[in-house]
Amino acid sequence: MKKKMAFVTLGCKLNYAETSTYERGLSREGIEVVPWDEKADIYLVNTCTVTEHSDKKCRNIIRKLHRISPEASIFVTGCYAQLKKEEILRIEGVRAVFGADEKPMVVPSISAFLKPAGDKNADKCRRTDFLPAYSSGERTRSFLKVQDGCDYFCSYCTVPYARGRSRNIPISDLVRQAEEIASAGIREIVLTGVNTGDFGKSTGENFLDLLKALNEVRGIERYRISSIEPNLLKDEIVDWIASGTKFLPHFHIPLQSGSDTILKAMGRRYDTAFFARKIDYIRHAMEHPGSPKVFFGIDVITGFPGETDALFKETYHFLKDTARPAFIHIFPYSRRAGTPAAARMDQVKDSVKTDRVKILEELCTELHAEFMEANRGVRENVLFESTDKNGIMSGYTGNYIRIERPYDPELVGKTVPVTL
Ligand code: SF4
Repeated sequence: MKKKMAFVTLGCKLNYAETSTYERGLSREGIEVVPWDEKADIYLVNTCTVTEHSDKKCRNIIRKLHRISPEASIFVTGCYAQLKKEEILRIEGVRAVFGADEKPMVVPSISAFLKPAGDKNADKCRRTDFLPAYSSGERTRSFLKVQDGCDYFCSYCTVPYARGRSRNIPISDLVRQAEEIASAGIREIVLTGVNTGDFGKSTGENFLDLLKALNEVRGIERYRISSIEPNLLKDEIVDWIASGTKFLPHFHIPLQSGSDTILKAMGRRYDTAFFARKIDYIRHAMEHPGSPKVFFGIDVITGFPGETDALFKETYHFLKDTARPAFIHIFPYSRRAGTPAAARMDQVKDSVKTDRVKILEELCTELHAEFMEANRGVRENVLFESTDKNGIMSGYTGNYIRIERPYDPELVGKTVPVTL
């Protein structure tokens, strides 16, 4: 009888792409994939460690899986497993951790999950390996991993320790994967990575050449870049995108703080003047009378050590008066052991962080409403997705506005012009 296996993904789209790849590989070996909240023989949990809260969420889900299926073997991989292997192995039900030097950077074979109990090292792979991955859970959009690891070592972040150094596979391999995605009928690809714009380090290539090569893949109609550091979003990339390509007017850029003092303490590689100029440059290159407004999603961390009320106000005003994004992804600072920021004495109280998150959330609502208003009456293309929710289907415009309409199976995977 086929072994039943369930997969749980926590964290970012990169994890999502990797889990999807494990799932495809193991399905080919004959396992039966079941939903994670059903009884299974084997569970694979792909974890995240970006905040203290993420770690807790991972522990809770592992405990929940053990309650659902006490006899099952639970395997854990991902960033949390990479950093806190021993902590995870102490949780009841965990059979093995693909972590530390054993992280499965290649798709583990089913045999790795069937090893006798007690063998905690299910696989032996190095952190410098690259697991090629893309997601295939949705019928219209796929997340394609183009890069892994990070060399930046921002002072608050543990990701470079979990994911290793910046690396990638060649453009030609990624084009092949994009063709594979296109042949499955998927029309939109979102490029993901840990530090996506750093693509090319290990192959001597560059990010712009990757975009140009992917742009030629037949069958793929649209591309988004999931997140890119402002210093790596070069003007020549913006110019090329704006010249009429399949890359959409949608940018997710981490700002993290609108205070130069805090940016410096974070070890970020730009200041607010640089960031403001970049946003301005993109708007000038891509926005024209009657055209859709560019969607900017901006990450901000609030409550970083040393962030006084005055410095927080700098962030608030930078967002409100200068950057004016369509959306703010707000993260209260999380103290991650082993990082320089965690060792600082001037930590900000949790209650202050909570207040600041609330203030930024209100600002985000305001800015988002303005963005929507600014797009009123504009003609945009929507790619409709397959989900039928109570007779309603939805899709996104190029500039990431969600559109709903009555469900029509004919429209699934189709790009349709609408007036917003
Ligand atoms: S760029 Fe900074 S925040 Fe982003 S993964 Fe690298 S170290 Fe972490």
